[in-house]
Amino acid sequence: MALGACGPVMAIDDVAPRPDAATTPVDDAAIVDSGVAVDSGVAVDAGADASASAINASATTRRNTGASGELDVVIRVQNHRSLMVVANSDGAARVSVLSVVDPSGATVFRWQDWYNAPRRTTKAIFAERTGTSFNWPIRAEDPALRDGEYTVRIGTYRVDGVTSRPNVDVDITTITNGDRDLERGRVKVALIWANGLSANGALVAATERAVAHWRTVWNGAGMDLDVRYVTSTINPALPYPSATTGDLFLQASSLAMDGEVPVLIGETVNNDATQYGVAGHIPGPIVRSPLRAIVVGWLANAGSDGVFSDNDVRLYGEVFAHEVGHYVGLFHPVERTYDAWDALGDTPECRNEMGCETMLGTNLMFPYSICDTNGCLSTTVLTAQQRAVMQRYTGTL
Ligand SMILES: [Zn+2]
Repeated sequence: MALGACGPVMAIDDVAPRPDAATTPVDDAAIVDSGVAVDSGVAVDAGADASASAINASATTRRNTGASGELDVVIRVQNHRSLMVVANSDGAARVSVLSVVDPSGATVFRWQDWYNAPRRTTKAIFAERTGTSFNWPIRAEDPALRDGEYTVRIGTYRVDGVTSRPNVDVDITTITNGDRDLERGRVKVALIWANGLSANGALVAATERAVAHWRTVWNGAGMDLDVRYVTSTINPALPYPSATTGDLFLQASSLAMDGEVPVLIGETVNNDATQYGVAGHIPGPIVRSPLRAIVVGWLANAGSDGVFSDNDVRLYGEVFAHEVGHYVGLFHPVERTYDAWDALGDTPECRNEMGCETMLGTNLMFPYSICDTNGCLSTTVLTAQQRAVMQRYTGTL
């Protein structure tokens, strides 16, 4: 379809484009918003079984942040490509990641470099939730893992996200991935039906077609999917992920296996029939966590008539591809405010609506859908550096 570069903007990040309806601006990445198992190191891409063993999760251990309100998590790296730290407080305390020190003692990541910066690499530095998850390395330009001990420092905070809160118990799990292939990867996904939805044959068929399109889009970045469908008793009116939705997300988390990305399919998100979907975190955890889910509202994806047309199915698939794109570490190349960007060198830096839609409107991670009365622009582009992020996600086999 031919859409002008400055066509009407009908939707804001992850909110359904409905040319005939007002939309509600909700941004998932509203970004101001924000153990040590070692296998034999065999990982290469030698088939499903070998790849599966590339991911190792530690036992979950309870630690306390003590008088300083901080603690160091040590991860032993031996021929691994990626590591993840998942930390959950036992109460309302907010959790964030402060720094990463490599085996030579060099600090390779510091929250101060990113907290007020206009470029984003992780939400883990923002103490907004009762848990966090952090992936390292993130980008192609970040130093590859070297053998030895990495130290990831975690802090606990009051609900303001700023004031240190000492003496908090934190459950820590560390995950390493030894798959060395940075060109081709695969993510395991658990698609979880909210209560009763698996009985809706039209929805199931549309979802399967959407997943096929999602796979095609991700294939452009060398990424594939293993999808497993799961039924549940979760209420189809899904919440917007926040510090108060941890229990539901833990429930969703328990329906997925370690290493899987849980995607919850409900009717609505936040009681908003125009909200497509929202990712629980950037990056998302692949072990038990109150952040561990992506929520998708099928009614928004089906459009105002509630029936999936071919165009609706295409958009639905791109919503899965976009939201799980967040989960595996991608930010919007530009935020809706046009004053904040991802930290990738090959996604152009634009500064206004027209320029951004022209330069980035077909990128999978563009923050909103560009639509006119005939439909919405397809978003299938992933750049080399976006691919590099996806391939470095610890859940990517
Ligand atoms: Zn988004």
